[in-house]
Amino acid sequence: MQLIWLRSDMRVHDNTALAAAAARGPSVAVFLLSPQQWLDHDDASCKVDFWLRNLVELSHALDQLNIPLMIRRAPYWEDAPAVLLDLCRQLQIGALHLNDEYGIHETARDAAVTRTLEAEGIEVHRYLDQLLFQPGSVLTKTGNFFQVFSQFRKVCYERLHHSLPGLVRAPKAQAPLDIDSDALPSIIEGFPAPNASLRDLWPAGETEAHRRLASFTDAQIDHYKDERDFPAKPGTSQLSPYLGAGVISPRQCLHAALQSNQGEFESGSSGAVTWINELLWREFYKHILVGYPRVSRHRAFRPETEALAWRDAPSDLAAWQEARTGLPIIDAAMRQLLETGWMHNRLRMVVAMFLTKNLLIDWREGERFFMRHLIDGDLAANNGGWQWSSSTGTDSAPYFRIFNPLSQSEKFDPQGVFIKYWLPELADLSNKEVHNPANVGGLFGVVDYPSPIVDLGTSRTRALSAFKNLPSQQPVGEPNESAIN
Ligand code: FAD
Repeated sequence: MQLIWLRSDMRVHDNTALAAAAARGPSVAVFLLSPQQWLDHDDASCKVDFWLRNLVELSHALDQLNIPLMIRRAPYWEDAPAVLLDLCRQLQIGALHLNDEYGIHETARDAAVTRTLEAEGIEVHRYLDQLLFQPGSVLTKTGNFFQVFSQFRKVCYERLHHSLPGLVRAPKAQAPLDIDSDALPSIIEGFPAPNASLRDLWPAGETEAHRRLASFTDAQIDHYKDERDFPAKPGTSQLSPYLGAGVISPRQCLHAALQSNQGEFESGSSGAVTWINELLWREFYKHILVGYPRVSRHRAFRPETEALAWRDAPSDLAAWQEARTGLPIIDAAMRQLLETGWMHNRLRMVVAMFLTKNLLIDWREGERFFMRHLIDGDLAANNGGWQWSSSTGTDSAPYFRIFNPLSQSEKFDPQGVFIKYWLPELADLSNKEVHNPANVGGLFGVVDYPSPIVDLGTSRTRALSAFKNLPSQQPVGEPNESAIN
């Protein structure tokens, strides 16, 4: 009997481990509930709820294949080897199949499971599935992990031209086994259920993920390059929660994008090329996580920035977290996060820069808050995004290139449509006033909106001098538009 251990690969189509297990014989699937570990990792309640809702869909799909889904509790990942060994003995499992996950704890967990099972004569087979390229296989000429995205991407393109990762077929239904699937939990202690409106925004299941992918590649991808930075437009795919939980695979996304672009990566529709680029940013940050494990330990990629004199400013941090900074674009973005579990990419950069530069608050505070609220929270992408914005990361924004939230607001939400949607208290302001209500005379008697908690000019100067005063500030190179992903 084969056992497939499902984790962030909650799908039956194009699932490498599932297909490999089923090809070898009768198979059973297992999913581990690890609430203590999830709490330690700051996984958001809405993300855990999304996993549980996807488990229901997955269980139905596995049912069609006569593959029972077992649910076991391993509160911490260090409990996983014993829990899986117990199940293997109970079901007389000959081999365990799993798709690789990345990060220090994930790697240690899988190594411990492998040791424990192999010592009992149970085979363990691991597969590349979450990524297009095995971390460690895309290297510089000197054999190191890339630190610059454009160079990494160049090698990825060469590989993809040479051989495109193929899609894996869903297994055929096996003969029914005399094993019942376990009941699925609808809630896990420590992770309160989100409200119904958040759930409605993110329906679970492969069918929904493919519907999103198809509608994006049919109708939107060609406009992606021009529209992706405007948060009031439906310019991006909103697939990140599905990619994060593995309800859809990067191969499926890549194939769909290529199909819409006559097989081209670098030419043809600039929208499709730009979108494929984003899939490669996802890839890049996972490779960074493996190549530079310090980022997985919440250390700065650039060690010299560990000496930065971050401000300990709890009331500013709380104002940022609670969407009451008095800067509408920041507050609207934070409300989007709190209400929907998701934030538009342009705004993630804007609010992250505001926190780490204008408020000079440690990027780790923002990283943790995002993880605790994002439905697509992913260590590699989140850490990469935060370290990019705070100029502590690889290929990150140069420290002297600080986004001005007001100009970002005027540029990317010119009519204030996004702001007014999330901050209805500003609905009566003109398109010009809405970006900076502090400029509107006599306003504060009329609407209930705070004044800015910080002066943008002086706080910018403060950030520049904090970075300049670093003991061994390395040259960061010229501002590079291509690094603004
Ligand atoms: P699309 O624009 O449609 O892109 C398609 C896919 O490409 C995304 O679903 C995502 O998987 C990937 N992608 C796009 N941009 C990036 C990027 N910059 N880095 C890595 N992958 C990318 N993304 C997460 O998935 N999880 C996170 O926790 C996360 N935290 C972030 C924190 C900060 C401070 C910043 C600046 C960015 C973060 N991102 C994160 C990246 C990006 O904002 C989201 O992936 C994107 O907004 C998701 O929306 P979408 O699916 O519509 O993306």
